[in-house]
Amino acid sequence: MPNFYRLYGLESASAAGASADAQRASTTAHNAELRVRALEESLAKTLMICEALWELVRDKGGLTDADLFAKIQEVDLRDGVLDGKNQVKAFPCPQCQRTVSTRHARCLYCGHTFSKSTFDL
Ligand SMILES: [Zn+2]
Repeated sequence: MPNFYRLYGLESASAAGASADAQRASTTAHNAELRVRALEESLAKTLMICEALWELVRDKGGLTDADLFAKIQEVDLRDGVLDGKNQVKAFPCPQCQRTVSTRHARCLYCGHTFSKSTFDL
């Protein structure tokens, strides 16, 4: 580093800035890791509850695991793709037929209000 930078204190300011950036990045990464862990625990609990509910329905309702798998496939195909998900990204507006995103509650073109499924993200 040229003496010019040391002379005017730019070296230490730059190093301090880099250190602060590194600290913020580390904190951000740590917080993201904590959120992922919380989501994993929440997902594990949700899966356990789904399993318990399925076993209650199966055992008390006379259904079989084959019935469940058939229903899962039926629901999976509602978005047109058998991919383990049922989340449509875009669809034609029922009023104006323009393609719209599921992120919006209303059509951006004509204002039509969409009725979303309880299970849409
Ligand atoms: Zn529309």
